[in-house]
Amino acid sequence: MAGRLTGKVALISGAARGQGAAEAKLFAREGARVIAGDILVEEGQALVRSIRDTGGEATFVKLDVTSEESWKATVETALSTYGRLDILVNNAGILSLTGVEETTLEQWNRVLAINATGVFLGMKYSIPALRKSGGGSIINISSIWGIGGVGASIAYQASKGAVRTMTKSAAMQYVKEGIRVNSVHPGIITTPMVTEGVPEEMRKAIIAATPMGREGKPEEVANVVLFLASDEASFVTGAEYLVDGGYLAQ
Ligand code: NAD
Repeated sequence: MAGRLTGKVALISGAARGQGAAEAKLFAREGARVIAGDILVEEGQALVRSIRDTGGEATFVKLDVTSEESWKATVETALSTYGRLDILVNNAGILSLTGVEETTLEQWNRVLAINATGVFLGMKYSIPALRKSGGGSIINISSIWGIGGVGASIAYQASKGAVRTMTKSAAMQYVKEGIRVNSVHPGIITTPMVTEGVPEEMRKAIIAATPMGREGKPEEVANVVLFLASDEASFVTGAEYLVDGGYLAQ
């Protein structure tokens, strides 16, 4: 039976764990050939093995999203391994939970380099390959904190807000070339970013402020990303999709 992404090649950044890994597994199950990029080599290679063990097709590439050379090499690997590129998921990101006065310039630059510049570079070096395929789909992972305010997360919020508007800018620039660009805005999702990086009290407070009263699962984000990646979303571009258990509806 044909999958929802049969025949397509997808590049996912930050694919070694968390939401990126869930997307890589789901995309492969739906027939995509997946290029999984991450700085975490062992985890990324293990993910690719598990996809292959279950009959899927995937290749790991060591990708640092802050590096132009690394992006160029990753897109080259996609083209030399699978012959084309149809989907880019800019998923890699890091969290930062400090406010304006507490954030050092070094910390600011690092968060912006990974979360915002990384998304820009991903689009810049993937778009020529998407164009060659006759069009494609880019999904940029922002956050509820790329839309609404929260105290003490200045650099992360700046970076995720940039992802939201870069998405609309690129959507407008490439609409005539059949390249769709959309952003996804997860609420709190159970991944290592949260289990290792968010203090217990804060986690509880976010869950309490979430109308569904729970954290989301990486697979629940992956399902929305899959829809946007597939041809089912053929009339969807420049849009922002909340996957937040109702958080921003209040
Ligand atoms: P995660 O920490 O589990 O995964 C992030 C991945 O990005 C890791 O595999 C990490 O190695 C990779 N990464 C970090 N820096 C990189 C770099 N320079 N180059 C390449 N890869 C790099 O977190 P996650 O929750 O799966 O996050 C995925 C995305 O979702 C991120 O953009 C995050 O900001 C966003 N997000 C997460 C939540 C949440 O609650 N978990 C909420 C909203 C948005």
